[in-house]
Amino acid sequence: MQSTAKFDQEVDVLVVGSGAGAMTAAVAAKAEGAANVLVVEKSDVYGGTSAMSGGGIWIPNSHYARAEGVNDSAEEALTYLKAVIGDEVSEERLKAYVDKAPEMLEYMANNSKVKFETVPYSDYYPEKPGGKEGHRTHQPAPMNAGKLGKEFDLLREQPSQVKVMGKFTMTMKEGRAFLTQAKGWMFTLFLMVLRYYADIPGRLKGSRSRRLTMGNALSGQLRWSMLERNIDLWLKSPMTELIEENGVVVGAIVDHDGSPVRIKAKRGVIIGAGGFEHNQVMREQYLPQPTSSEWSGSQENNTGDGILASEKVGADKALMEHAWWAPSVRIPGWERPFIIFAERSLPGLVIVNKAGKRFANEAAPYLESGLAFYTANTPEAPTVPSHVVFDATFRHKFPFGPIVPGYTMPDGRLSKRIWKVLKKADTIEELAGLIDVDASALAETVSKNNDYAKTGVDLDFHRGESYYDRYYGDANNTPNPCIAPIAKPPFYAIPIHPGDIGTKGGVCTDVNGSALREDGSVISGLYVIGNTAASVMGSKYPGAGSTIGPAMTFGYLAAKHMTSGDRVSDGLKQAASKQSSSTVEPA
Ligand code: FAD
Repeated sequence: MQSTAKFDQEVDVLVVGSGAGAMTAAVAAKAEGAANVLVVEKSDVYGGTSAMSGGGIWIPNSHYARAEGVNDSAEEALTYLKAVIGDEVSEERLKAYVDKAPEMLEYMANNSKVKFETVPYSDYYPEKPGGKEGHRTHQPAPMNAGKLGKEFDLLREQPSQVKVMGKFTMTMKEGRAFLTQAKGWMFTLFLMVLRYYADIPGRLKGSRSRRLTMGNALSGQLRWSMLERNIDLWLKSPMTELIEENGVVVGAIVDHDGSPVRIKAKRGVIIGAGGFEHNQVMREQYLPQPTSSEWSGSQENNTGDGILASEKVGADKALMEHAWWAPSVRIPGWERPFIIFAERSLPGLVIVNKAGKRFANEAAPYLESGLAFYTANTPEAPTVPSHVVFDATFRHKFPFGPIVPGYTMPDGRLSKRIWKVLKKADTIEELAGLIDVDASALAETVSKNNDYAKTGVDLDFHRGESYYDRYYGDANNTPNPCIAPIAKPPFYAIPIHPGDIGTKGGVCTDVNGSALREDGSVISGLYVIGNTAASVMGSKYPGAGSTIGPAMTFGYLAAKHMTSGDRVSDGLKQAASKQSSSTVEPA
């Protein structure tokens, strides 16, 4: 940690990282009167994993939901969070989220280009007290990339898994219709393709769709808001260290244009630099084993920098053993794995361990499903990796991760790389041999699945019982939309790992996003948000958008706090009295 010395640059607010939480904080700080706000980003593109994501945010009782006549309340939302998260997180923080998240959403709707709409996506535990079967998750309204001008080229691209055929951008609602082949999906697809090719200027420029959706729409809208408010963004500029004086964070050192720049931040520093999912050393130190950053769907810059820098100035950490787990399928030679968010709910597959047995409800919410790989892992029946087993009917009809449905891409046209991990056989016993699992156990597992497909009741793991399980099931498959026979040869198997979409553990913070020491005192001048902070959701995942919703909310609250009288009375005055010796030389 650095102390008193001259600064090269001075800003009001320094924001580290350009994920959705960080850009929300920057826009809100400027809107609240900060004279100048600087965002520094390690990568050569902006948006972070937020830009690659579905862009969904879980915000109960929003003004959007109220306008649609949705019946929800802060009390019900708090009841639900307490039922799911228990006492892992203080009621004060849960209440802050429930009360302030809708306020943030309305604030952004009124003060920025950020626009959302609700989605009928179920809470992940709708049967728990206060749970709802939809309209707490919101998706960003699609955006025309033309609004970003040249900045469009610097917006981090979405992975192909959140595009149709790796090319056509889609909203969350459209994605569900395609996956489950809901009524009218072909017409929606036709319009999507038509719109893509009708964008002649866009096609002349390249193949990237200018209809921004999901995380690209959110990051695009945030960047557009920054441009409108003249907020500077430095790319290729990692923050390397915080500058502390007498217990107050007064700035940071940022590598910029090949040199370290000492930046004074008069009102404070907000760190939204993601988690540590791409720091293999930290993964091995904190997460359950075995673990690999290769199974993470997040982008490679999230290496725990913000957590490590905060720790050096005395910040306490929590939840370091937890991640936003999500099973993933890795194809050798492909940049990142496919996160299997929804396909596990489709009927006609099982996930089996090395002993050839199921170990969890395949259709469970992805955090629970990913975590099960660790809780069920034993030396006798290892689960890492496990295998997804399906038959010709499933293969023909549905996508699974990198494998598009057979009716659009028959086996012969699948990439050779996929065939390095995808196995195919005429019998279940032969398939078991190819993936080295116990043949009779696998045959028994498949036979049980086929019995459950008839009765609709999964006696072992209750697949399809929850409304959530069925959300991505096939409504035309009866009696259980999540279970169908695995009976028609050839049979297929592909390895699956306990992947993640980011880590959950990080710096302890209060209701304003201020970093805390072990004794609970505030580190004045330092705010930590997104996956750099220990999650307000504890180790759980209450609903789609539980990572970006809090990142944006605590980004907004941090910006409000640092630009308000509260911060002036507690932090800045303290800093001002202790900082009189530092010199400032604007660059
Ligand atoms: P990021 O968005 O990753 O931003 C961190 C930024 O900080 C990065 O740009 C990084 O380059 C930068 N950075 C790192 N170190 C430094 C440094 N030293 N100096 C400067 N900059 C630095 N979550 C949801 O809530 N809803 C969804 O719909 C959803 N869908 C997803 C879909 C996919 C395919 C994936 C992979 C994830 C999804 N997630 C979703 C998870 C979500 O994207 C992440 O949890 C979230 O974006 C993390 O936000 P963040 O701000 O902490 O990090």
